Amino acid sequence: MGRLVMKFGGTSVANIDRIRNVARHVKREVDAGHDVAVVVSAMAGKTNELVDWCGDASPLHDAREYDAVVASGEQVTSGLLAIALQGMGIQARSWQGWQIPIKTSDAHASARILEIDGSEITARFKDRQEVAVIAGFQGINPQTNRITTLGRGGSDTSAVAIAAAIRADRCDIYTDVDGVYTTDPRVVPKARRLDKIAFEDMLELASQGAKVLQVRSVELGMVHNMPVFVRSSFDKPEDIDPHGTPPGTLICSEEEIMESHVVTGIAFSKDEAQISVRQIEDKPGVAAAIFGPLAEANINVDMIVQNVSEDGKTTDLTFTVPASDYTRARDTITSAKAKIGYARLDTATDVAKVSVIGSGMRSHAGVAAQAFTALAGRNINIRAITTSEIKFSVLIDAAYTELAVRTLHTLYGLDQA
Ligand code: ADP
Ligand code: ASP
Ligand code: MG
Repeated sequence: MGRLVMKFGGTSVANIDRIRNVARHVKREVDAGHDVAVVVSAMAGKTNELVDWCGDASPLHDAREYDAVVASGEQVTSGLLAIALQGMGIQARSWQGWQIPIKTSDAHASARILEIDGSEITARFKDRQEVAVIAGFQGINPQTNRITTLGRGGSDTSAVAIAAAIRADRCDIYTDVDGVYTTDPRVVPKARRLDKIAFEDMLELASQGAKVLQVRSVELGMVHNMPVFVRSSFDKPEDIDPHGTPPGTLICSEEEIMESHVVTGIAFSKDEAQISVRQIEDKPGVAAAIFGPLAEANINVDMIVQNVSEDGKTTDLTFTVPASDYTRARDTITSAKAKIGYARLDTATDVAKVSVIGSGMRSHAGVAAQAFTALAGRNINIRAITTSEIKFSVLIDAAYTELAVRTLHTLYGLDQA
C-alpha cells in the first residue's frame, strides 16, 4: 500500500463526463489500496475566461481581486469531483487552499508556496480512508488572509508541494498527452516520448517554454526528490493493469537514468520580444545604464548581444524580454534615453526562442555549432544566441519556429523511428 498524489489538468476535467472518468481513475487507485490526494485544475478554458473577465471589468485591476476571481475555477472542479467520487461510494472531501491551509507569499498572481500543513489530510487517510480532493493553483497568504494564486499552470506546483507535504511515494500528473516528449508532440508529430528525464533537463525544458509542467513544480520535485510521473488521463481506467507500468514519463534524479543522449529535447517560446538599442557610445557604464532601470522595473532580461553599430564607431545592444513586459521595457528605455545616449530603438515582437536542452552537453563540444549550420541551411536567420552548460537558445523570426524545431529535432537524432 502506498500514498499517491494524482493531479488532473484542465482538459481532463473539461466536463462532467471527464470528471466521472477522473473519478474512475481515482477509484482504481483507492481499490488498489492506496491513500490518495487528488489535485484538480479548473475546467479547460475556464481560467482564461476568468482572466479576461478581470481585464474587461477594468484593465488595471487589483491583483488581490484578480486572485479572488481566478481561483474560483478550481473551487468548482474540486467540489464536482468530490461529488462524483461520493456517487461511486468513495469517501471524499474537497479542500480549498485556505482550508488546508496552503500558505503562500503575498505575490498575488504568482505566489510561492511557503508551507503546507498535511496533517488533517493524512489523519483522514488513517481514520476514514477519505480521499482528499484539493483545488490546485490557489493558496492563502497568512499575513493578509487573502486568497492567492500560483501563476498560470500552477496546479502542477500545488500537486508536487502536496506530495512532499504528505510524504507521498509519487506524484502522478495526468494530462492530455501520455508523457514528456522530446518536443511538443502537437507541433512535431515525430517527437518521441521519453521514459525518464532528469529533473535538471525537465527544469530547462519547462523554463524554455514546454508547458507540460510548471517550472516551479519541477524545482520542488528536485528539492524534495519526489518522483513525478507524467501520464494520460485519457487511458481508460479499466484498461490499466494495476501491476504493470503504464505509458508515461518519470521525472527523477540524474543517477536513475541509464542511457544518456547529448540532446534530451527542444523547447520553444513565442512569448518573446526583442529590443535593440542602436548607436550607443562604447564606454564603461552603458550596460548598467540600460539594465539597471529594467531591473528596477522588475523586468527579466533574457538574451543579450552587443555588437558594433553600422557606423563602425558606436555599439548596439540587443536584448529580449517576455512579450508581456515588452511595452514597459520599451518605455523604460525611452525614459532613460538622455542617460544612456543612443540614436535609435528597434523592436520586434514577432520573434521566437528555440532552445536545445541536454545535460550531455556538459561533456560534448560543438553541439550548438551544428545547429547554426543546419539553420543556415534552411535560410533561418539567427537574431541572438545564449548558451549555458546544458542548453543553448537561438532567437529567430516567429514564422520559422516550427521549421527550426523540426530541423533541430532531426539533426540531433530525436525523431521517432
Ligand atoms: P494540463 O491542462 O493537463 O495542465 P497543459 O496544456 O498545461 O495540460 O500541458 C500539456 C501540453 O503541453 C500538451 O498538450 C502539449 O501540447 C504541451 N507540451 C509542450 N511541450 C511538451 C513536451 N515536450 N512533451 C509533452 N507535452 C508538451
Ligand atoms: N487553472 C490554472 C491555469 O489554467 C492552473 C492550472 O491549470 O494548472 O493556469
Ligand atoms: Mg498545465
